[in-house]
Amino acid sequence: MLVSACLLGLNCKYSGGNNLDERVVKLLEKENLVPVCPEQLGGLETPRIPCEIVMEGDEKKVVNSEGVNLTEVFIRGAEETLKIAKLLKEDSILLQPRSPSCGSRQIYDGTFTGKLIDGEGIAAEFLRENGIKVYDTEEYFSD
Ligand code: SF4
Repeated sequence: MLVSACLLGLNCKYSGGNNLDERVVKLLEKENLVPVCPEQLGGLETPRIPCEIVMEGDEKKVVNSEGVNLTEVFIRGAEETLKIAKLLKEDSILLQPRSPSCGSRQIYDGTFTGKLIDGEGIAAEFLRENGIKVYDTEEYFSD
């Protein structure tokens, strides 16, 4: 399966750090995990200014905390991630929760105040709509 690269300790997070999750590292013992970072694949630099999704009706817009619209970059990153899944014939992805790309159940509400709402990140939604099974670590390791 594919996996959010930051979960394996790759420093691709907006801050320049990672979201190392030892449960995911341990999963490497039995699963072939392919690390991907949709935001880097879209062309964003690291570190970068944090982004959140702003809902405009049913449409999602991604803006950084300086108000720059980066929606197209996020869409490109989602498309490139799907391309990797198809090339490698992988049908699932394990994702970092709450990211504007990778979040699959909750995202921040676009006000940069730490408030969460139900919703999906750009890559999570795009991958799911294209037949990829999407999990976040909270549900994957919930048993
Ligand atoms: S886009 Fe996804 S993989 Fe990349 S740093 Fe954010 S949560 Fe991690």
